[in-house]
Amino acid sequence: MTQTDFVQIFDTTLRDGEQSPGATMNVEEKVVIARQLEKLGVDVIEAGFAVSSPGDFDSVARVAQAVSQPIVLSLSRTKQADIEAALRSVEGAKRPGIHIFIATSDLHLQRKLMMSRQEVIDAACWAIEFAKKHVDYIEFSAEDASRSEREYLLQVFGEVIRRGAVTLNVPDTTGYAVPEEFGALFKYLIENTPGGRDVRWSAHCHNDLGMAVANSLAAVRNGARQIECTINGIGERAGNTSLEEVVMAIKTRADVFGIDTHVISEQIYPTSRLLSQVTGLSIPINKPVVGENAFAHEAGIHQDGVLKDKKTYEIMRPEDVGLSSNRLVLGKHSGRHAFAERLKQLGIDLYAVDMNKAFERFKKLADLKKSVYDEDLLAIVTEDAIRVPERYELSYLNVTSSSMAVPHATVKLKVDGVERMENGTGDGMVDACYNVISKITGISPRLERYAVKAITGGTDALGEVSCLINVDGVTATGQGAHTDIIMASALAYVNALNKLEYSRGRFKPVVVDEGP
Ligand SMILES: [Zn+2]
Repeated sequence: MTQTDFVQIFDTTLRDGEQSPGATMNVEEKVVIARQLEKLGVDVIEAGFAVSSPGDFDSVARVAQAVSQPIVLSLSRTKQADIEAALRSVEGAKRPGIHIFIATSDLHLQRKLMMSRQEVIDAACWAIEFAKKHVDYIEFSAEDASRSEREYLLQVFGEVIRRGAVTLNVPDTTGYAVPEEFGALFKYLIENTPGGRDVRWSAHCHNDLGMAVANSLAAVRNGARQIECTINGIGERAGNTSLEEVVMAIKTRADVFGIDTHVISEQIYPTSRLLSQVTGLSIPINKPVVGENAFAHEAGIHQDGVLKDKKTYEIMRPEDVGLSSNRLVLGKHSGRHAFAERLKQLGIDLYAVDMNKAFERFKKLADLKKSVYDEDLLAIVTEDAIRVPERYELSYLNVTSSSMAVPHATVKLKVDGVERMENGTGDGMVDACYNVISKITGISPRLERYAVKAITGGTDALGEVSCLINVDGVTATGQGAHTDIIMASALAYVNALNKLEYSRGRFKPVVVDEGP
């Protein structure tokens, strides 16, 4: 294997991933995720679709400035306004790039674009030529490639290579391909496209039939040297290729693939956990690599084997993906030094954390529960890092309920620093508490998602509540962690309202085309 021969990992968690329902992230959250992606060792970050909204533009620009190793891209259609916005958004990047796409299947040409095949080629060539005057790194995507005519793809790809595209992406936009067929398509394109051997070929797969990872790996075996993927596989519909799965497949089966990625696999679990916390989208327990059960060997016969020799049933070591076996870490008597030391071991950048605040929160938590786990620490630190300016602050909560009485809540909330108190009732304790908070803030959003989960085991576990609220199409997620789930629910709701106010004050969403 030569130094240049590796599979480039293109992460689109912040673009394709964020486009999926319920995965909304604000600018601050995207920056936190991007920093973690850099630590994870991804080669390319697709930070957004700059022209789609001022919020997206701002996110791409902030991410571009926040990282220095990865190439930072914005998605762009072949229109001049798109390209100009995309180029401006990555101006601050150390390694800027642009990702231009246009559909190539007859279905898309006739039904969506209303363009002829020649018009599509002309548009693509014009776009690449225009962008190439300003930036060197250009990726081109033929949207719906897996359902496009092969000869036509050769023509499109040949032309864009001639105009200066350096990475050619072949998306299975609808998740329709099967591995043998998709792999053969790469072999055909690489061998037959004029100039095809001098560029990097990329696979972008969707998981509608559960084959995104298999299709991406088939592409690699047939010459693709970039995989587009997302953390936890989030993305449109059934999601994208999941980063942790392809990376660990390539690593674990090095005998088959004979190639490597730049990903630091020990950062996989922290990244997965961080994204789940930021979006509030939980990870299925049986999810490969990062699911709670991925390394649990509870079935008697397996457990017996694992105890005798781990290799009997374990093909990867939990520590290789960053899951520490030594999870019980700190308690009430742990000092500041031990706390900082553990954060460092977890790969957290201490300069990015307000240590005084974080330590104070740790102490409070340690008072409430006996053992503080790694997951608890990550929760403390991220909650702090993704905090937006707060209009509302919860200062007091009293909720009562019994089998005989209607649930009743009293809430004191600081609004722009001024304390206000209200009380009211609801169907349940959480409902009562949310009703009163809405009464005080004057905002009655639609609650689209509400989920509770215990971060760690035991009845004194830190309960994590995540909610997704929607007011006139503007959505915001909120997270709250507390040993009391009603309190965690209130914190999550207030957090979501703060983020909503933050977004509403800054951006108005504009909806455009979805992309590959
Ligand atoms: Zn996609």
